[in-house]
Amino acid sequence: MSRLFIRLGIGLLFTIFALLNYWGNVSENVVTGEKQRIQISPRQEVVLGIQSIEQIFRQHGGLYPNRSLQAYVARVGENLIDNSSASKSPYPFKFHLLRDNITINAFALPGGQIFITTALLSRLNSEAQLAGILSHQIGHVVARHAAEHLAKQQLGIALVNVVGLATSDRPKNGRQAAILAQAVNEILTLKYSRDDELESDRLGFRFMVEAGYNPIGLVEVMNILASARSGSQLPEFFSTHPNPKNRIAILKQIIAKNYPRGIPAELEEGVERFDEIVSPRL
Ligand SMILES: [Zn+2]
Repeated sequence: MSRLFIRLGIGLLFTIFALLNYWGNVSENVVTGEKQRIQISPRQEVVLGIQSIEQIFRQHGGLYPNRSLQAYVARVGENLIDNSSASKSPYPFKFHLLRDNITINAFALPGGQIFITTALLSRLNSEAQLAGILSHQIGHVVARHAAEHLAKQQLGIALVNVVGLATSDRPKNGRQAAILAQAVNEILTLKYSRDDELESDRLGFRFMVEAGYNPIGLVEVMNILASARSGSQLPEFFSTHPNPKNRIAILKQIIAKNYPRGIPAELEEGVERFDEIVSPRL
């Protein structure tokens, strides 16, 4: 009987410890100002993201084989980072154009790896739309949504000792490798919450206008995606990024509130530039 109590007691202590660790680990986000409960460090997020790249390439046919188009996507992404408050975040952002010309999608891995498929790029017609997609993804990274998700799945604590230790990014034993594989799988199948999407839309709006893009690009992108249904199937983008109609309405409110006298003329759409660079190469 007493042994059972001891075991229960130990079990309870472990549970309390895990909960204290979850609730006690609060950090303030340098861009959003939000207080977050995340155990893994930004450096560990970067390592996790890099560990997941190969699988993304495998699922989407690798990179699109045109250097100037890759460079253009990267240039638009870097312009967004360098000229907005996203530059305050500690992540080494990298932008990739995937060869996949069937799946209409864009996504981000924790730590700054951002992807758009050729299928999605080919449906756009302005640089502001491309900037809208990339800045929304930058929002997911900066707001650390994947790391928050891992913390909620109780993977955060387990990962702390596995990923991104000073000397090696490789797990030392089978158990650590299994935890890492589980985390990568969580990241690759992650479905963001409605609140995460709305936060990324707000951040996407902010980074776009700070970098000089017309925020209407983000609204247009949502419309393009909502109308790109094939049969009853919504584009892949909305299975990972839900609620298009609602989000369009909220975005329009944000724009109207920020620019009650209309969007300033200096915020660019970049239709000609996009057409010159992208159209001949797709
Ligand atoms: Zn999203």
